[in-house]
Amino acid sequence: MGNTSYLETIKTARELFEDLSFSYPGEWKKKGESRKIIGFLPIYIPKEIIHAAGMLPVGIFGAGDRIPVIKGDAYFQSYICHLPRTVIELVLNGNFDDFDGFIFPSICDVIRNLSGIFQLKIKDKFVRYLDFPQNFEESIGGVFYRSELERLITDFEKMNGIKVTPEKLNASIVLYNENRRLMQELELIRNTDPYKIPAVDFYLVQRAGNVMSVEDHNDYLKKLLPLLQDSNFEKEDKIRVVVSGSFCEQPPIGLIKTIENAGCYIVEDDFQLGHRWHSKDINYKTDDPIGSLVDSYLNDSTYSSAVYEGDKPKGDLLANRVKELKADGVIFCAPSFCDPALLDRPLLEKAMDRHHIKHSNFQYHENLGQFHVIKEQAGTFADMIKLWE
Ligand code: SF4
Repeated sequence: MGNTSYLETIKTARELFEDLSFSYPGEWKKKGESRKIIGFLPIYIPKEIIHAAGMLPVGIFGAGDRIPVIKGDAYFQSYICHLPRTVIELVLNGNFDDFDGFIFPSICDVIRNLSGIFQLKIKDKFVRYLDFPQNFEESIGGVFYRSELERLITDFEKMNGIKVTPEKLNASIVLYNENRRLMQELELIRNTDPYKIPAVDFYLVQRAGNVMSVEDHNDYLKKLLPLLQDSNFEKEDKIRVVVSGSFCEQPPIGLIKTIENAGCYIVEDDFQLGHRWHSKDINYKTDDPIGSLVDSYLNDSTYSSAVYEGDKPKGDLLANRVKELKADGVIFCAPSFCDPALLDRPLLEKAMDRHHIKHSNFQYHENLGQFHVIKEQAGTFADMIKLWE
């Protein structure tokens, strides 16, 4: 069991996670006339730009099993993932009434269609389908991405009159660099000693970073990190796994707990991949911070099923990461009907076979309530590795 301060700190993150009325962003907004809330869908958006425009980026990751889907099913066919149904349900129920705009990153057709439904249903708010380049040459993808970011900045300026100057954008980059470094510190603790922070707690801390302001989340992490040094969770005999494929629709908390309880320490996952999209600090000592964001996206971003792999095969990158982390295996855990994750899976599995890395797989949906089959499967995977590896 963790100590009292630790439990209190995690409780804050859990309350934010459970609050589907988004009261933290609502309170934040009340503190200034020009303040706006911009919701964003997975996986990644350049939050620095939203921050520099005096706005709060807030992640929208569905509602899991916390609301019944009554109206949402009428908008989508049955054979797609679950996330857009709860997102529509939230918008129709008024949970996003305080929000001023929404950004839909270009990761799949479902997200594209969802952005269209938002445009039809909430005509008085800003809705942007943000296209990311799939070409990583500066003269092609770089030019295109810059134009997308400049268009975004122009639209934000129209919303609240705040000009995004290079100075403001650089200051925002500094804050997000700090946030990424603090998150990396936390990840490093989990990579090496995963017993020090349960997987669910780690997840909740990440989720908090998609609701809190970056300033508050930085303070939060600075408070949490020293507490982990005194962590009194006991180390157990579990295998070390990397979980891959859950970067958009989120696994239920119960599923994350089940994997761990079944004998698998999660040393890395992609549930909240946006937090580690950039592997290095973004340059802020420049007159052209938009160029810095573009450069970092082109050259220092992580691999993902939503991005063309070019000359860097994702399977090999995942295998290398598994080896770096000294993980015992990979659990491919993707939402049912998730095209990007499930189309990549055979390629990734083949790559694991090539690299002699053990793997297992299952699918979920965000409101899954029964985990015993997954517990048996993850438990068998752990036992197999413990007995025969
Ligand atoms: S879960 Fe997969 S298919 Fe569904 S919106 Fe997300 S990326 Fe697209």
